Amino acid sequence: MPLRAQIIDACRKLEASGLNRGTSGNVSCRDGDHFLVTPSGLPVEKMTPACIVAVGFDGHVIGPGKPSSEWHFHRDILRTRPEINAVVHTHSPHATALACLREDLPPFHYMIAIAGGESVRCAPYALFGTEALSQHAVAALDGRKACLLANHGLIALGRDLDEALAIAVEIESLCEQYLLARQVGEPALLSVAQMREVIAKFDGYGRNAQSS
Ligand SMILES: [Zn+2]
Repeated sequence: MPLRAQIIDACRKLEASGLNRGTSGNVSCRDGDHFLVTPSGLPVEKMTPACIVAVGFDGHVIGPGKPSSEWHFHRDILRTRPEINAVVHTHSPHATALACLREDLPPFHYMIAIAGGESVRCAPYALFGTEALSQHAVAALDGRKACLLANHGLIALGRDLDEALAIAVEIESLCEQYLLARQVGEPALLSVAQMREVIAKFDGYGRNAQSS
C-alpha cells in the first residue's frame, strides 16, 4: 500500500479503535528526504491520499495545503530518531487522563516494556504546535517508543505505521488498566531488574512473543 494510503488507513484504525475522535490526533511517516503528515483540521472520512501533506525536514511545507498543527514534533522525532519511520499522536481518553495528572506510567505491568523502557514518561506541558512542546516530547521519548504529553495526549513511534499503531493501542490500554487499579488501591510496581528481564526477553523473541 502506498504511504499516503497507509496514513489514511492508520487514521481510520485510530478512529475505529476509539483512540481518536473528530479531528484531534495526527499521523506521519518518513518518505525519503521529507515526511508525510495528516492535514490540519480534516476529519478522516474526508481524507484522500491527495490531502496528505509533504513537509521537508527543514520545516519547508511542500504541500498540498496545511500540515497538522503538530508537524513540529513529527519532524523533530523523525529527524532525531533514524530508526523510527512513523509517528502516531492521539488524545486517547485514558492516556490523556493520566497525562492530565502529569504522571509517568510506571512499571505496574510488564507490557510497559513495549515502549522500550521501565516507564512511559510524561513530557512537561507546553502549548500545542510549539517548538517547546516538540523539545519536551523528544526528550521524554529518549530511548523510548512512547510518551505522554502533559494535559494533552500520547505519542507512539514505530519502525513502521503498524508498530506505531500497535504501541499506541497498547499504551492506551495500559493507561486504562493503571487508572482502574488506582481506583481501588496503589498498584504494586515491578523492580528495575524485573523490567530489564522483560526488555531482554522482548529483544530476544521479537514482537510476536510480546503479548504471550
Ligand atoms: Zn494533540
